[in-house]
Amino acid sequence: MIMIGELVFLIIGALFLVRALSPIKRLISELPDGTLKRRWRLLSNLTLFFLLFYFVFGYNLWLLRESITVLSMLGSLMLLLGGIASYVMGQLALQTANDVKDMAILQHESITDALTGLKNRRYFDQRMSEEVALSLRHKLPLSLMLLDVDHFKKINDTYGHQIGDEVLSSLAKLISGMVRDSDIVARYGGEEIAIITPRTSKEEAALLAERLRDLIEKTTVAMVGTTQEVVQVTVSLGICSLSPVITDKDALIEESDQALYLAKKYGRNRVVVSNW
Ligand code: GH3
Ligand code: MG
Ligand code: MG
Repeated sequence: MIMIGELVFLIIGALFLVRALSPIKRLISELPDGTLKRRWRLLSNLTLFFLLFYFVFGYNLWLLRESITVLSMLGSLMLLLGGIASYVMGQLALQTANDVKDMAILQHESITDALTGLKNRRYFDQRMSEEVALSLRHKLPLSLMLLDVDHFKKINDTYGHQIGDEVLSSLAKLISGMVRDSDIVARYGGEEIAIITPRTSKEEAALLAERLRDLIEKTTVAMVGTTQEVVQVTVSLGICSLSPVITDKDALIEESDQALYLAKKYGRNRVVVSNW
């Protein structure tokens, strides 16, 4: 009778241990190649090795069935609990990994503009404050560019809103491909894009802005209809940098906006750098 209880413990424990392998295998399949994946694989192999001991222990129990002691009962119970604990840990690990993944997706979505894939206005505001504070503290240059598509209403009116959207995402890709990884490109408003360039002087920012303006002017940003008519746009840019006069985030935005206004006023398709 005692022997049956111990065998039942061992069988149930072994079943739990086998079930613990499936969330571990799922985790391994979802992980990218690397140290973490290798460690989970090692744990999976260790679990299989551990499973072997259930059979070894069970076989020895059977051989010693005439002289079974309280220790045999404790041993089987421990193996049952070990199996259950492994199963619970496997399930929890998978659930935690999925929750962390969902959190990362939510976090990414909360700072990303859905149409263009650029950072959104909320992220821009937050990063502007941080970058301005950092640049002031370490006395580093910081520039801001505001870019606005010229006569964008006409694009929408001529080709439709959907092509307008296509133009915006095409521009977003073009700009993201030209700036440094440390620059922050955000959709500031409808067809306005802001580019924060840390550790960049006004002169360097002006050069980059001119390169962007030139590239955009020369690039086909969409094709329309059966004739595949080419859509090209131009952009205007306003630039301002931190200086003895421009010492905070609001002034930097206001002056870049003013420079952008002047770029529009002077005929569009141009870069204007703030005097301050
Ligand atoms: P300019 O800037 O050169 O003065 O002229 P504009 O025609 O671009 O003028 P404005 O900035 O006032 O107009 C922006 C237009 O952009 C108006 C709005 O319908 C359009 N727009 C804003 N957001 C979107 C969007 O997400 N998709 C599309 N297709 N159009 C948008
Ligand atoms: Mg515009
Ligand atoms: Mg605009």
